[in-house]
Amino acid sequence: MGPGDPVLGNGKLARRSRGRPGRPRLSGGGGGRLSPATQPTAPPCTDFDLAYFKAYSHLGVHEEMLKDRVRTESYRNAIRQHQDFIAGKVVLDVGCGTGVLSIFCALAGARRVYAVEASDIAVQAADIVNENNLSDKIIVLHGRVEDVDIDEQVDVIISEWMGYILLYESMLASVIFARDKWLKPGGLILPSHATLYMAPITNPERYHDSIDFWQDVYGIKMSSMKSLAKQCAFIEPSVETITGESVLTWPCVVMQVDCYTIRVEELQSITANFDFSSMLQAPLHGFGFWFDVEFNGPMGIEANSDATVVLSTAPEDSPTHWQQTILYLFDPIELKKDQIIEGSVTLSQSIENARFLNIHIQYCCGGRSFVKQSTMR
Ligand code: SAH
Repeated sequence: MGPGDPVLGNGKLARRSRGRPGRPRLSGGGGGRLSPATQPTAPPCTDFDLAYFKAYSHLGVHEEMLKDRVRTESYRNAIRQHQDFIAGKVVLDVGCGTGVLSIFCALAGARRVYAVEASDIAVQAADIVNENNLSDKIIVLHGRVEDVDIDEQVDVIISEWMGYILLYESMLASVIFARDKWLKPGGLILPSHATLYMAPITNPERYHDSIDFWQDVYGIKMSSMKSLAKQCAFIEPSVETITGESVLTWPCVVMQVDCYTIRVEELQSITANFDFSSMLQAPLHGFGFWFDVEFNGPMGIEANSDATVVLSTAPEDSPTHWQQTILYLFDPIELKKDQIIEGSVTLSQSIENARFLNIHIQYCCGGRSFVKQSTMR
């Protein structure tokens, strides 16, 4: 990403880069629609939200997402797989960006698509819809999904809401809002399920490049810089692509999201315990996070094919713009083969800005206890 790229909060890229044993199951119950008396009330639009939407008004971030073929083709495949359900139905695209998913749905035969986008890229979305002669089907609504008026219930909600480490950006809350307000009972949500994974990782090159570098710089000793270098390099979560070779154990599941049933309150703080056993003797440099999403129908809706579409951001799968998110330790720990690393991880929304994510890991290894705390801003 270059200098003109969008930023979220204090200078972090708005987007967003983004596992696997034990796929989440087909879950039932579509349609979390509430009666009018219990319909969700729109949360206030904060200055942080405005900064967030401004970041999404830039072309670059949409270009990056569209060029991520793994991402975009997974959505297109999922729409095609559920084409029989979508044809003739009403779709709500939460955060349509350039309108790409709305257009895929219209091409799959949707009768009407509400393409809702809060950022100014909505202006371009409307042009793109016109350019494709779809303005009779796709209604672009420029505003927050929490604020727009839609006079009918919808059969399908589609959204590409996933941020780095799945939850960064907190956009899922907007999808839940839309579900509870407009989705018909038995409606379809794409994607339907998400799973966040975590595993210990080793990355000697990265450590060497950022820290050992200071040992000898053109023959000059600069090792006094190492503690500052560790702070600079490892204080914040790092979004980067690692390979499966860096992963020291099978991952654990940090959280599973069922988009048909999850409630906003469940997103505020998530804690998972882990008990890893290192498959190798290697230095432990940190903990890596990645996720996948699935595109299942609610119970009773048969997709066109048995194979559920899965969009994975795991290190062993094709890279995506979400990459992986790594929390580096300030100092590596030498692990023996079969050594146990046990502890817990808590992800919580930051109090300063609900779109930021606090990550707190406490772990025991080799008889010692450690804590790693970081905020993704
Ligand atoms: N659907 C597009 C864009 C995905 S990025 C694509 O797949 O390429 C997520 C988009 O959702 C951003 O453009 C962002 O501005 C928008 N967004 C996030 N929260 C929103 C909300 N509450 N209401 C409307 N748009 C929202």
